[in-house]
Amino acid sequence: MTTLNPMQICQSLIGGKPVTSPLRAIDKIYPATGEIVAKIEPATQEMLDEAVAVATFAQRSWAVYEPLARARILHRAAALMREANEELAHLEVLDVGKLYTEAKTADVPSGTDAFDFFAAAITTQTGDFNKWDGAISYTSRVPLGVCAGIGAWNYPMQIACWKSAPALAAGNAFILKPSEMTPLVAHKVADILADAGLPSGLFQIIHGTDEIGRAICEHPSIAKISLTGGVDTGKMIMSQSANTLKKITLELGGKSALLVFDDCNFDLAVQTALDANFYTAGEVCSNATRVFVQRSIADKFIAAMVKKAENMVVGDPMAADVQMGALISAAHLSKVLDYVQIGVAEGAKIATGGIQIHPQGCENGNFMAPTIMTNCHDTMRITREEIFGPVMSVLVFDDEQDAIDRANSTEFGLGAGVMTTDLARAHRVADALVSGNVWVNSFNILPPGLPFGGTKKSGFGRENSLYTMDAYSEVKSVHVTL
Ligand code: NDP
Repeated sequence: MTTLNPMQICQSLIGGKPVTSPLRAIDKIYPATGEIVAKIEPATQEMLDEAVAVATFAQRSWAVYEPLARARILHRAAALMREANEELAHLEVLDVGKLYTEAKTADVPSGTDAFDFFAAAITTQTGDFNKWDGAISYTSRVPLGVCAGIGAWNYPMQIACWKSAPALAAGNAFILKPSEMTPLVAHKVADILADAGLPSGLFQIIHGTDEIGRAICEHPSIAKISLTGGVDTGKMIMSQSANTLKKITLELGGKSALLVFDDCNFDLAVQTALDANFYTAGEVCSNATRVFVQRSIADKFIAAMVKKAENMVVGDPMAADVQMGALISAAHLSKVLDYVQIGVAEGAKIATGGIQIHPQGCENGNFMAPTIMTNCHDTMRITREEIFGPVMSVLVFDDEQDAIDRANSTEFGLGAGVMTTDLARAHRVADALVSGNVWVNSFNILPPGLPFGGTKKSGFGRENSLYTMDAYSEVKSVHVTL
């Protein structure tokens, strides 16, 4: 079983210093054991005001750093993150209860890469030049000022980095409000940025719940908010931010489809479907929770998935041989288990899983068996609503158009996948799927240069890639009469 760190007190980080709050502390629970591993002190409105004032002051100097000077600091931060990979991964596990092997090889490297990517990107940014009759004009990109990130609990390291790296590279100050359930890893990111030479006040942490989240939205001196969270939260962020006309990026939920055609590489498709559902215990917004399988291979495909799912080892996230860790909280586990029963009541069958489990050494953690639901149809709640746990719904289709229409028949549009060896079909189907991201013969691959984000109720705006750089700055035109 995991050796826990001594109890930590997570205080908001303002101007490089932890600040004591008079508000009642919230328990931070390790999802794999149910133990309290930290106390979080929620920030007050006055603390937020102080953080924004510090950020506003720090940003003025940061904005006039040459891009290369900003880039050097951010590259140094990436190098320090690589050195601290194991410690960051350990904190990510304590935060989320996900596998250490995942955190070490995916979450932390992907956060780290964002710093290298956006450091490099800012040094290449140029403007436009135009020549008019008796005049010239040019454009430049200017930072927005103070930007805030509000994070979900499933990828705290990645969320902290994917939002702060482009914000800082573009010359902004950044304030992070992590989820109250995952407050730990952000502090190590802050330490690393300070060690890399980032001036104080440019990366600050404000702890708390939706109450301080609302205050961030309503703050007149915050220019932009990037949220990763649920659809209802996205709507709240928009309405709370309307009065101050903030720029907003929303990375929201999903109900992604994976289309498995009978001409696929069978073994690859089976493994991809499992990974696209059980990675991070299914707590991934883009997960392919609707697996559409062509009728001619459906029985064989389901049998192969069930066999593999039943062999998956679920338990202590720190153990090297474990393949699925804990869910974030007891309340969330109960919600996911309820969805299984809702599915059964609607006529779905549990092909495997569907139950809570109590792995040895982690008996009080929030664990669930990898679950595959069959006999599903498109109108069931389990195939329409985001469950956000290790529950796959299998749907059977007859032909390509049927699969495309049904895959698109959702209010979400975050991810989609196509498993086929027919090149023409791969491109045709990818083109027809209404989704921010489509993967062919893989799923959830997210290099930093690839835009990531959704359409429809999955939100708007993108993370990663040069598109994100533009979302943290605005264009300024200068017209010069000669
Ligand atoms: P929530 O929407 O509940 O919370 C997200 C963040 O918003 C938390 O920090 C939360 O604070 C804060 N918050 C909640 N209400 C408000 C409010 N009114 N004003 C300001 N801030 C608020 O999401 P979860 O943390 O439960 O994460 C799961 C959701 O995130 C899923 O729907 C998932 O799909 C989505 N997600 C989307 C991703 C994407 O990239 N598209 C990636 C990962 C997750 P508190 O600390 O109180 O919770």
